Amino acid sequence: QGSREFHPEDTVIQTAHSLIGGDNFTMMAGPCSVESLAHVRKMAAVAKAGGATILRGGAFKPRTSPYSFQGLGEDGLKFLRQAADEFDMDVLTEVMDEDHVEMVGKYTDIFQIGARNMQNFSLLKAVGKTNTSVMLKRGMSATIDDILNAAEYIAASGNTQIMIAERGIRTFDNKYTRNTLDVGSVPVLQKLSHYPVIVDPSHAAGHTEFVTREALAGVAIGASGLVVEIHDDPAHAFSDGAQALKPDEYQAMADKAFAIRNLI
Ligand code: PEP
Ligand code: MN
Repeated sequence: QGSREFHPEDTVIQTAHSLIGGDNFTMMAGPCSVESLAHVRKMAAVAKAGGATILRGGAFKPRTSPYSFQGLGEDGLKFLRQAADEFDMDVLTEVMDEDHVEMVGKYTDIFQIGARNMQNFSLLKAVGKTNTSVMLKRGMSATIDDILNAAEYIAASGNTQIMIAERGIRTFDNKYTRNTLDVGSVPVLQKLSHYPVIVDPSHAAGHTEFVTREALAGVAIGASGLVVEIHDDPAHAFSDGAQALKPDEYQAMADKAFAIRNLI
């Protein structure tokens, strides 16, 4: 169902405050983790000022180590929802477990399926049975066909409101960046499928100093949107501080992103 061959028109996803795909360009920003109500509200204000209509934030975190901060759980979802509502934004948050789909669905406008769960087929089927949009992130070692097949699991269960996120893949050299942003995958995914393709420069770059340029590369190559991590005090972020854009850095990035988008 995801193939252009059978469905030539772009899928355009509509949420309360956003249009994603087609001729639209959508900015999504927020902290890696929801840390507190006060913090996520502050980040929502920053995200919105830069033109974001979608507030991201993790309440269930897929951490590499089981001893790292795992997220605030349902309280985090409540804080995220409240902050988004206050600023007329949509919520994007990760669901990690099929048993949580119903609960997370009460708070979010878009489910995020994280890179580590891209081929968790029971989770894909579970979100596929809902009417909530899904952002499917590319697994770190997933091929283009792997991610298209993963998207097909969601669509085959009845939900075609899918966007695909390129967030960097693991390659032979991850010493200086966290992952390698596969910018070339964007036009390939757009050729093969009709789903919006979003670029996440944060998890690709892994270091703040490279995030803006990877973001702009994503815009220049024609992504339908960006999803970016921001933090006002990256050194004390609960997760992924090393790659967070500070508010002024985010604002400057966003201004350039919209300017480039207007040129292409
Ligand atoms: C995230 O968005 O914070 C995240 C964990 O992303 P990924 O699944 O791409 O690593
Ligand atoms: Mn993160």
